[in-house]
Amino acid sequence: MIKSHGYAAPGPKAPLEPFNFERREPGAHDVVINITFCGVCHSDIHQAQDDWGGSTFPMVPGHEIVGTVARVGAEVNKFEVGDLVGVGCLVDSCRTCVNCKDGFEQFCLKGFTGTYNSTERESGAPTQGGYANNIVVSHDFVLKIDSTLDAARVAPLLCAGITTYSPLKHWNIGPGKKVGIVGLGGLGHMGVKFARSFGAHVTVLTTSEGKRADALKLGAHAVVISKDEKAMAACAGQLDFILNTVAAKQDLDAFLNLLKRDGTMVIVGAPEKPHELSAFSLIFGRRSLAGSLIGGLPETQEMLDYCAKHNILSDIELIPVQKINESYERMLKSDVKYRFVIDMKSLK
Ligand code: NAP
Ligand code: ZN
Ligand code: ZN
Repeated sequence: MIKSHGYAAPGPKAPLEPFNFERREPGAHDVVINITFCGVCHSDIHQAQDDWGGSTFPMVPGHEIVGTVARVGAEVNKFEVGDLVGVGCLVDSCRTCVNCKDGFEQFCLKGFTGTYNSTERESGAPTQGGYANNIVVSHDFVLKIDSTLDAARVAPLLCAGITTYSPLKHWNIGPGKKVGIVGLGGLGHMGVKFARSFGAHVTVLTTSEGKRADALKLGAHAVVISKDEKAMAACAGQLDFILNTVAAKQDLDAFLNLLKRDGTMVIVGAPEKPHELSAFSLIFGRRSLAGSLIGGLPETQEMLDYCAKHNILSDIELIPVQKINESYERMLKSDVKYRFVIDMKSLK
């Protein structure tokens, strides 16, 4: 076994606190990573607070992991000690079902193994995430990162990056398309960067007037304050595609009405409470409502390589791990610009 220490939620209503634990003894196909940075995703909050139900504790959250390879197993030949690498939301899957074979491990028919709040396939031991000094991961679920990049700003790509890149690619967003990004947080700000980079016209729909100037700096062409009914009405029927990243229950009709005929809104935000929806918002204009979940390993590597080539990185606020509970409180108030990343040097 390997000794680890990090920060864990002891239970759903308790703040995160220092935690010592053990990782599995690395096998022939495993990579041991010394974690240098870990992004803070809103899904960490949902799970640490048991919003979705079924959470297990103590829980070390974190699935936007960047670090350096400390050790490799005898059968590992893709990675060497010292390489800069990443780990996202997945650390294993059945590897044999049709979705795994197609590189969509996130849709594994037997259920993927999450980086934390999940159980290892063989031992049944709980998995623990990236708010820690190290992690042991099968080489098949480790991603290569260009060592010239700012590693702290790469970390959020491992979840916020792939979650926004994947649907924009799948729905063929490019020149001539008018795209709306709802919610300017960790996911939203990456959505703006990708949609802009793919050549689309980008409108940010935000509840925060204070994010207007930043939205434009991040690459948006237009900003609409979604609480402003007049501004929303002026935008009705204008957009081909909407990526909705909001982490709370909301009025979907207000956003569906912004779509053109045959437009699609993709939900990536995952609040615990179900949304309500009027059938008329879909019937009129033959609109579609869809969802998307992170991305598989091949597409995540493709996204990281795209980001390296086009210099796309997250805008972050680097925090010591001791500020993790404060960062959760701020994210719940939409006060994030635009991703908190934990500097693991702060871990004592
Ligand atoms: P985040 O950084 O906290 O950003 C969420 C943004 O949503 C806020 O900054 C805010 O933007 C907007 N918002 C509007 N009303 C809100 C409210 N009442 N409460 C909270 N936010 C509100 O979160 P994130 O990390 O981007 O994650 C967003 C959601 O996506 C979460 O539910 C998360 O679990 C989910 N997620 C899904 C996937 C997937 O694969 N589908 C992957 C990762 C995360 P404005 O200030 O601009 O209004
Ligand atoms: Zn995430
Ligand atoms: Zn599978």
